[in-house]
Amino acid sequence: MQDYDVVIVGAGHGGAQAAIALRQAKFDGTIAVIGDEPDLPYERPPLSKEYLAGDKPFDRILIRPASFWQERGVEMLLGREVTAVDPVAHRVMTADGKSFGYRHLIWATGGAPRRLTCAGHDLAGVHTVRTRADADRMMAELAHVERAVVIGGGYIGLEAAAVLAKFGKQVTLLEALPRVLARVAGEPLSRFYEAEHRASGVDVRLGVAVDCILGRDGRVSGVRLADGEIVPAEMVIVGIGIVPAVAPLLDAGAAGGSGVAVDAQCRTSLADVFAIGDCALHANAYADGAAIRLESVQNANDQATVVAKTIAGQDAAYHAVPWFWSNQYDLKLQTVGLSSGHDAAVLRGDPATRSFSLVYLKKGRVIALDCVNAVKDYVQGRKLVESGAVVAPERLADATVPLKEM
Ligand SMILES: Cc1cc2nc3c(=O)[nH]c(=O)nc-3n(C[C@H](O)[C@H](O)[C@H](O)COP(=O)(O)OP(=O)(O)OC[C@H]3O[C@@H](n4cnc5c(N)ncnc54)[C@H](O)[C@@H]3O)c2cc1C
Repeated sequence: MQDYDVVIVGAGHGGAQAAIALRQAKFDGTIAVIGDEPDLPYERPPLSKEYLAGDKPFDRILIRPASFWQERGVEMLLGREVTAVDPVAHRVMTADGKSFGYRHLIWATGGAPRRLTCAGHDLAGVHTVRTRADADRMMAELAHVERAVVIGGGYIGLEAAAVLAKFGKQVTLLEALPRVLARVAGEPLSRFYEAEHRASGVDVRLGVAVDCILGRDGRVSGVRLADGEIVPAEMVIVGIGIVPAVAPLLDAGAAGGSGVAVDAQCRTSLADVFAIGDCALHANAYADGAAIRLESVQNANDQATVVAKTIAGQDAAYHAVPWFWSNQYDLKLQTVGLSSGHDAAVLRGDPATRSFSLVYLKKGRVIALDCVNAVKDYVQGRKLVESGAVVAPERLADATVPLKEM
């Protein structure tokens, strides 16, 4: 069975960037990327945005064309799931009975969508959005869908709701918490997005629990809420987070739990094994050093680059400022920093103009910004977050003064 200098498990954002960055760092050893999806690495964010909307074909969301990988000698072993790791022999085993040796292993497997456990969760027409295949299945059904229920008011649920509403579908969005985006954003932002979705015809229901999914002839026909109400639907989209895909690594003895624990170079507790991206549990300077997982393209790419440099013998450590974006309707949200743990939030600009920012403070320091159609605030606010600037709330609230002057 074949051996490689670097085996990368997971052909997604982190896996692709690790291979790209290794070659950029002049690493000339052999590299194999093992991915369980059949496709070359592609961008995942468009799956709930432009790709789902039919505005971008698949070839335009490929991270690199096939020729790029061939020219750089990166072997793509696709359609293969890694099921076990032997950290002593330095080998990974795949579901099709093959095994591959590594000098360095980079674990970049992301996560699987969390699924409902209630009755009816496996009916046809109940979808999650993580892969191209997921999005394709939804798109193939859309012509026969008039009413859709989206379960989960996080970014992916809201983005999918926006696309379906734009298609003229009757959309009901169910959120268990009292507001959408409750885990990631301050209340003014939640209320703004709830109002935007309602203005576009989405029936946003807050603080509601799902009892079960109802079906007819094996296909979804609606969702029954805990209070007995039935919301009829031909399609249900479940966006309730992910479960990190780390079982083979934890089984092999890697430290972790909800994710694989890594240090500043993204090394796991297993010799020569690194983990990056959605599945990497790392101490984050922008979360007061707490061990967290970040689910963003930025994090996957930046951690991949740190690992590539480390393997290539260069000094590198992960301390990037987190950033993220979300597109819904004509609204471009850009976030920088991590707002969790904030003790004050300052509104900058008027949400009624559909261009504003929310600046988050902790003990007087700027820790994060959410900027809606406010690119300047996003670009200039990043410096405030990076430096942990202390700025008076009244000044931050004055949208006539550019953030760069603060
Ligand atoms: C619909 C959607 C919209 C998003 N929108 C945004 C956005 O707007 N902005 C943003 O910053 N982020 C967004 N994200 C998050 C972003 O896509 C992820 O953070 C990013 O893809 C993480 O990269 P990764 O390499 O860790 O995992 P992934 O890109 O998920 O790649 C992991 C790959 O590993 C494969 N794999 C898993 N287990 C195995 C195994 N045992 N063997 C082989 N292969 C395996 C998976 O199938 C997958 O192909 C979005 C995600 C989704 C799903």
